[in-house]
Amino acid sequence: MANPLVADRNVEFLLYEVFRAEELCRFPAYADHSRETFDLVLQNARKFAREVLLPAYKPMDEAPARLVGTGIAVHPAMKQLYPKLVEQGMVAATRPYEVGGQQLPHVVTCLATLYGMAANLSAVGYIGLTSGAAHLIEAFGTDALKAEMMAPMYAGKWTGTMALTEPQAGSSLTDVKTAATPTDAGHYLVRGSKVFISGGDQDITENIVHLALGRIDGAPPGIKGVSLFAIPKKRREKGDLVPNDVHCAGAFHKMGWRGIPSIALNFGEGGDCHGWLVGEPNRGISYMFQMMNEARLMVGMNAIATASVAYNESLEYARTRPQGRPLSAKNPAAPQVPIIEHADVRRMLLRQKAIVEGALSLGVQTALYADTAAHAPTPEERRRAFLLLEIMTPIVKSFSAEKGFESNALAVQIHGGYGYTSEYLPEAWLRDQKLNSIHEGTTCMHSMDLLGRKVVADQGKALQLVGDEIAAATKRARAAGVDADWVAAVDRAAALVGDLTLTLGALGMAGKVDAMLLHSVDYLDLFSTVVVAWQWLLQAAVAKEKLSAGAGETAFYEGKLCAAEYWLKTELPRIDHLAHLCRTGETSYARIENAWF
Ligand SMILES: Cc1cc2nc3c(=O)[nH]c(=O)nc-3n(C[C@H](O)[C@H](O)[C@H](O)COP(=O)(O)OP(=O)(O)OC[C@H]3O[C@@H](n4cnc5c(N)ncnc54)[C@H](O)[C@@H]3O)c2cc1C
Repeated sequence: MANPLVADRNVEFLLYEVFRAEELCRFPAYADHSRETFDLVLQNARKFAREVLLPAYKPMDEAPARLVGTGIAVHPAMKQLYPKLVEQGMVAATRPYEVGGQQLPHVVTCLATLYGMAANLSAVGYIGLTSGAAHLIEAFGTDALKAEMMAPMYAGKWTGTMALTEPQAGSSLTDVKTAATPTDAGHYLVRGSKVFISGGDQDITENIVHLALGRIDGAPPGIKGVSLFAIPKKRREKGDLVPNDVHCAGAFHKMGWRGIPSIALNFGEGGDCHGWLVGEPNRGISYMFQMMNEARLMVGMNAIATASVAYNESLEYARTRPQGRPLSAKNPAAPQVPIIEHADVRRMLLRQKAIVEGALSLGVQTALYADTAAHAPTPEERRRAFLLLEIMTPIVKSFSAEKGFESNALAVQIHGGYGYTSEYLPEAWLRDQKLNSIHEGTTCMHSMDLLGRKVVADQGKALQLVGDEIAAATKRARAAGVDADWVAAVDRAAALVGDLTLTLGALGMAGKVDAMLLHSVDYLDLFSTVVVAWQWLLQAAVAKEKLSAGAGETAFYEGKLCAAEYWLKTELPRIDHLAHLCRTGETSYARIENAWF
């Protein structure tokens, strides 16, 4: 069987059996939808991903988008894919009808996009960036900006980018220098250089709108002086589109994501780059968080997609590659067995399954929080979901990226020597996956966001809500008859997170911020391991319920129980070690001096 990219049965299981996503249709915004419309969207996405996007992946990886003269030429396949991607209706899928959207739940679009990303992540990247950029203008732009820029972006006629990073301002956006001088004509004159801007130039659409961070002349220093601008590649003059003094200064040669260029971009080399302020001056970073948070969830889904396609490939390979014999086989003339018969290969496959399906469960859960935060009828429900969305976003992003990379490396390992060659795809997916722990904030930045802000904000309100969610899952698992030791392990893990956070929070309150955050990456690892254990317990509970009810599909549900057991018994116990590091503040890297390396 061809690689399914993402297992359909697992998507259905999560969407309808674990999370009952069809209940979202009780929200007025989704009243026109039903399980039938969700399924239709998913069916289209699967077919498109498997039949159209996947065949273009390898050619696009082998011949990256490149600088030709002063602009980027994308792969010819990308030019053909783009209008078809737009036709899929994903640019504005979650947006309201008034702006041309379909008011689809995030959770459905995330899953539809998951198939596309697993097939050809760069191609889908243009759509995700355009959608996020247009949504910023929709949320904070003037009516004029919406008519001029948002509408063609949502229609897919123009694309959008997220232009934050500068040579001296990557993790530290406080140091953004791009300058903007007000004019009497309502626009600003912008000067500055951005780096790594994905989709920053292309020869597919007539225009590109950069949603860029910059500083208005005289703005206060630091993050509170950063504003958001919409800067088109071409601006409108007397009805025509004319060049806007935006220049591609070069394309980065990348190890992955080769179908979408990441470029150095110069604004205002000729002193004539017009930018339009989005929202109020000096509030740019708070607006940009809307796009960054959406993008972080998508990066997490991307990481899951990339791990998933590789998991499915290695599963297929392990079932068909004959090599060696069982340990107990005495007869060298006996036929070789498929490598899936070897215990260590099954260990690697089960680890991949546990990572991919555990992360996807968390991704679906988090996308549901996003839908509830946006559209639940009561402010209390919306607030609760918002806090949970906020705390889970760095985890979905970083856990999926870090463990996804490990999972992708296992796919290479399962392919043996062939996995190391470019004849097979696992090495390409491994290269693609590495980016996910770097862009949209490195893992370290997310660990500091989680421990330094998210878990301690509002006297730990969000953390308390996570505790409530876990308690509901343990109750369900107990009632379903899940092994009592598994349930107790998750209960204990949740208590450990609470205690540890109090200890570390107290260090912060005492002004010892360095000590609090010294092991923030270990804390993120620990926290992620626990929330994924929660997700596995939830899946185990549903599997048990189904098996007890004689629902059939024994292989599917037993597989779920094995993966849950794997996570709870082999991965969850690591948290004691991680907690020890955080508590004792193990000091090797705090102490070692620059010259001692
Ligand atoms: C292929 C690609 C596509 C990208 N696309 C875009 C895009 O479309 N738009 C955009 O704006 N940007 C984009 N980026 C930029 C990306 O977001 C940055 O590369 C990322 O935020 C890291 O910034 P940096 O590269 O300057 O690394 P640095 O910030 O210099 O970080 C280097 C290392 O130091 C660590 N570090 C930095 N500061 C601290 C600290 N205070 N404490 C502890 N550790 C620290 C980091 O964790 C990292 O390990 C892209 C990057 C790549 C590679």
